Amino acid sequence: MIAVESDIAPSTLAELENSIGAENVSTNLADRLANSRGVWPVELKAIRRALTSDEDVDVALPGCVVSPTTTDQVSAILRIAHERNVSIVPFGGGSGIVGGTSAVRGCISLDTKRLNELRVDPISMVAHAQAGIFGADLERQLNDAGLSLGHFPQSLHSSTVGGWVATRASGTFSTLRGSIEDMVIGLEVVLPRGDVLQTRTSPRSATGPNLAEFFLGSEGTLGVVTEVALSLQPVPERQIWASFVFPTFQVGLDSIRAIVQSGARPGVVRLYDPGETAHKFADLDFMAGACLLVLVYEGAVELASANAEISRRICLAAGGVDSGSAPAQHWWQSRFDTSGMVRTICASGQISDAIEVASLWKDLLTVYESMMESVTQNGGRAFSHVSHVYPAGGGLYVIFTVEDEDDDRVVSTYQHIVDSMLRACLAAGGSISHHHGIGRGKSHLLPFEHVEAGMAILQAVKRAVDPHGIMNPGVLGLGG
Ligand SMILES: Cc1cc2nc3c(=O)[nH]c(=O)nc-3n(C[C@H](O)[C@H](O)[C@H](O)COP(=O)(O)OP(=O)(O)OC[C@H]3O[C@@H](n4cnc5c(N)ncnc54)[C@H](O)[C@@H]3O)c2cc1C
Repeated sequence: MIAVESDIAPSTLAELENSIGAENVSTNLADRLANSRGVWPVELKAIRRALTSDEDVDVALPGCVVSPTTTDQVSAILRIAHERNVSIVPFGGGSGIVGGTSAVRGCISLDTKRLNELRVDPISMVAHAQAGIFGADLERQLNDAGLSLGHFPQSLHSSTVGGWVATRASGTFSTLRGSIEDMVIGLEVVLPRGDVLQTRTSPRSATGPNLAEFFLGSEGTLGVVTEVALSLQPVPERQIWASFVFPTFQVGLDSIRAIVQSGARPGVVRLYDPGETAHKFADLDFMAGACLLVLVYEGAVELASANAEISRRICLAAGGVDSGSAPAQHWWQSRFDTSGMVRTICASGQISDAIEVASLWKDLLTVYESMMESVTQNGGRAFSHVSHVYPAGGGLYVIFTVEDEDDDRVVSTYQHIVDSMLRACLAAGGSISHHHGIGRGKSHLLPFEHVEAGMAILQAVKRAVDPHGIMNPGVLGLGG
């Protein structure tokens, strides 16, 4: 059972209701519970414990959930919170997996989902999307106009445009289409004192530091993103699926590096290590130790075919074996399915999670080996793939499972493993997050990533923009 209290002052509630309408302010327990967390395994275990225990369990809940429908309402909410020193936790789809939406007791959870309007400029091929639109809804509406954003995170159906910007998200077609920062060409953000910042929508500018960049990856610590201008492309004419099998992970890595350094651009590049090849493609019966590479090309017919031809030549020259389109189609059909991980987290004494990092090509194999070793040395099981590639390096995704006697013990083992994996990544030259962000879960390691001078800049920006420290305290190690 959950011990329920509302820690928000009645006068604050009254001011919020007067300002944005009582229908947009909720103190209902179900709403507060739904907005008390994202999908960070530590939060899911805490909720599971509260819901399955016979005793009262203290869970941090927001004092209320506000659901503004306009930028002016967001501005009014932040002005009230700033004046009264009440914490704000921006909440999009709640699909974040690093503790970025964990409620601060008695905070205002600012839910963006009613900010869901879309305007399209068909001449410039630009979408002006409000922050609360879910990814799948956005893509469907764009497709109806013959357009596409080309951003397909695995959480497409449960994440929002504002959440993508706030976490610097990356989708499965990143090798061709780029990640969210490559698509954003303008932003509207409400700052913690209630002022509205609209950066100029432009394909590029040389007008000093790019202000939109301050908010890309700011994880709700510097303001609330209310609208985003996104550069689009036509719905691709053609998709081509291909796959190759390599005798070792190293040969596979060399091949995808050669592909992307040659200038060829597959949309999707996914190289699985032997463990994940055997697990995910069990039905396809690959030889033990084989590493599968899945490639999807898309775009105008001539471009997709040329990218496929160059990539195929490189893979065959490296000793890869052409495995046809079936493995890639298998990936395509299951690309949004994460039910295995969810089932594990719901089971007592078990956690499964994915840690995503990035490094230069010269360090990637060492980063992989040392992170895998951190998991196995601590009693977990892991497999891995590389799924975002650049001429200079790649993003590595390590999926691991850990078991212990009960939920309390498994959470502490899990936290120890994540910490050792990320320290191993740093020691091998990698960066501790490619796209999930930092949240509260990894914030203690951010000073190792940015070191002193970098953290000092982040802290100075935070103090200047949010002097009362109301915005998502604790996230990115700022305030809280
Ligand atoms: C099954 C699964 C698959 C995933 N796959 C991917 C993937 O392929 N690629 C990827 O990049 N990520 C992935 N993620 C992580 C997650 O979906 C992304 O981080 C996503 O961008 C979060 O969007 P959201 O709307 O759910 O944000 P939320 O979870 O609601 O919030 C995330 C953070 O952003 C802040 N925030 C949200 N909206 C705003 C706003 N409008 N203004 C300011 N701050 C805001 C929150 O306070 C929080 O700190 C996955 C997660 C799951 C559970």
